[in-house]
Amino acid sequence: MARVADRLPENAPGDLYVDAQCIDCDTCRELAPAVFARADRGLSYVARQPSGGGERLRALQALVSCPVAAIGLQDAASSPPLGEASRVPRLEKADVRAAARSLPVEIADGIYACGWASADSYGAQAYLIRRPAGNVLVDSPRAARPLLGRLEELGGIATMFLSHRDDVADHAVFARRFGCRRILHADDASAGTRDVETLLRGRDPIRLDADLVAIPVPGHTRGSTALLYRDEFLFTGDHLWWDADEGGLHASRSVCWWSWSEQKQSLRRLLERSFRAVLPGHGGRRIAASPEAMRAELRALIDRLG
Ligand code: SF4
Repeated sequence: MARVADRLPENAPGDLYVDAQCIDCDTCRELAPAVFARADRGLSYVARQPSGGGERLRALQALVSCPVAAIGLQDAASSPPLGEASRVPRLEKADVRAAARSLPVEIADGIYACGWASADSYGAQAYLIRRPAGNVLVDSPRAARPLLGRLEELGGIATMFLSHRDDVADHAVFARRFGCRRILHADDASAGTRDVETLLRGRDPIRLDADLVAIPVPGHTRGSTALLYRDEFLFTGDHLWWDADEGGLHASRSVCWWSWSEQKQSLRRLLERSFRAVLPGHGGRRIAASPEAMRAELRALIDRLG
């Protein structure tokens, strides 16, 4: 639970706040970018209290999705004078329950952001691909009861694709609940994931279905693997993401746990593929106007990294 006593001083006046538990996972900034921002010291804060109905819903989706419960609502009795913010209707506990039932949220045609980030995956974002041939869950969100129910309503899960060893969190719970096939690269299997149904091997892309290709991208971890859907959406785990501050695609040596030179080679191999969206575990999402525009952005990153 967030604690008012630990409320960050950067927060805008009002009832919604972030406290000092924040682990800078990106989840709130991706779900409600108009409300949450990143402070220079690497923590999220409420840059502006939500105003309209849509903003309020997205802010509360972020609240329930925060992996460490660092986002809180200050009740009227303990709130400081709000000034301008007092004209905004207060957020209520009932609003939080409605927000919990509203996840996942569709962010592109048939692509959903699950929210409900898990601390066991350091708050990594997970996605649902809703497709006639069977839904795919990309990486593991928290197995929260409201999310499990909504996933059931959206058609269940046929396949769970695990991009790498760090973002597997509640995979066993999802496998039991939905009877889904889990896919992970063998190089990232560990005691908790050795029994997944499919272990990928090697460095060559592997076609999983007519519209799904697994693309090994070793670097961040030895077994990191991206998932390409419809030659349009690339789910990248922690291999590649959008950096809003730099205004470009990004990959970082500072969070490369296995081999930086391999990671750069993996980025270069992605130039051979066609996609226009990058959907990462951590960092920003990017949906470009066309595959050509995305390729130009990827080439610019590769040139920057050298
Ligand atoms: S979701 Fe929570 S932990 Fe993640 S950046 Fe926001 S406040 Fe911090």
